[in-house]
Amino acid sequence: MTERILIKGGIVLTQDDSLGELNGADVLVEDDMIAEVGRDISAADAQVIDAAGDIVIPGFIDTHRHTWETSIRTCAPDYSLGAYFAGILDKFGPAYRAEDVYAANLWGALECLNAGITTLVDWSHIMNTPDHADAAIRGLDESGIRSVFAYGFPNTSLQDWWFGPDYAGSRLTTSGEEARRIRTQYFNSDDGLITMALATRGTGYCVEDVVRYEWELARELGLNITVHVAMYRFGYTKLQLRRLKEMGLDFPNTTYIHSSHLQDDEWAMVRDSGSNVSFAPQVELQMGHGWAEAVKALDYGVPIGLSSDVATTTSADQFTQMHAIFASERARRHEIAWDDGLEWNELESKLINARQVLQWATIGGAKVAGLDARTGSITPGKKADVVVIDGSAVNVAPVIDAAGAVVCAADISNVKHVLVDGNVVKRDFRLAASLDEPRKRVEASRDHLISKFGEPEAGWLTASADREVATA
Ligand SMILES: [Zn+2]
Repeated sequence: MTERILIKGGIVLTQDDSLGELNGADVLVEDDMIAEVGRDISAADAQVIDAAGDIVIPGFIDTHRHTWETSIRTCAPDYSLGAYFAGILDKFGPAYRAEDVYAANLWGALECLNAGITTLVDWSHIMNTPDHADAAIRGLDESGIRSVFAYGFPNTSLQDWWFGPDYAGSRLTTSGEEARRIRTQYFNSDDGLITMALATRGTGYCVEDVVRYEWELARELGLNITVHVAMYRFGYTKLQLRRLKEMGLDFPNTTYIHSSHLQDDEWAMVRDSGSNVSFAPQVELQMGHGWAEAVKALDYGVPIGLSSDVATTTSADQFTQMHAIFASERARRHEIAWDDGLEWNELESKLINARQVLQWATIGGAKVAGLDARTGSITPGKKADVVVIDGSAVNVAPVIDAAGAVVCAADISNVKHVLVDGNVVKRDFRLAASLDEPRKRVEASRDHLISKFGEPEAGWLTASADREVATA
């Protein structure tokens, strides 16, 4: 029997160009699908979720998060990127057991659902053993979130797996065999709630034999690639995408994370190859990656998604990302305008706006995750990934411009109802899942990981650990 849910009378920001924004509209969900969107839908047998005065949006998409780091949340608030590599990847990575990855992935995915993130790209470079991979997938699966498991590489020994002088080590083949096993065992179909991508290192970060190996592996397995590029001083002058193109590895549907210092020919390469970018604006500002080049991406017509990256250093929700990119990219344009002596009207045309930011957090993110045929907008025929934002909250009411309310006023506390794949995973501000056991597990994981490095105190993971970077 078809199960029907009617989300009734909300301000529906569909993020579907043909449907637009609808006041006092209904969304009818049948099983896992959005069946109908419009006013006065009659569905007598449906369970009703009253959304009068509330704002209905498609679920947010986080296009890149190292979910395994949820166990060590905010252990490193003051880090720049160099210290992060030394302090988090080199120190903590090797100490992770499979059970730590499971605890972190489950807790991090529940955190997403609570914050209205219905799709998560889990960038999992903690594949230290086969058990770690199984544990990561199990955590995602038990949460009920839609996700892309981006299978990465191990973090097993100091400087071994990222920036090391020679990555073509003995583990390389194992890594490929493992990727094949995961593809066959868990992702024989690309239609499930969890799908697979390949999280790679890339040019300028490791020897080119490894780059070619990983790109060819992605092609063999039919997976999209997601890769960090052009960030901080590591990526500032490397021209990583120029090199990738020279190598003939400018594959379509690749996600270039950060992309802070791409040159114009590299932006053209992203566009021409049919690829996209994921900006993590809060962490980019804090850690020194560079600016989230939203206007540049718009100029080139490159799809934009937003991402949270690391829970070690920033809050990991899409409200934070929307605030960060909205403020930083407008601040930068204002500064450029003053320096160039632009007139007011010339400046206004270069300022990003709230509706664009909301698009990037939803349908833009779905394009980046490769799932826009399935999610990212409230469109009949798509999966029912829907979020209701409380329009009566003290920090949201009175609502005048609903997109403005979501982007500029709302926060996690206003996420009232969340549906993933037609399942109500959060209702009336409460997650359906019990949090007690997952929290105990992630706290035990924290205790284990922290015990490896002594008692925390102020500055305990010294930022001076900034490592020398080998150039490949
Ligand atoms: Zn990252």
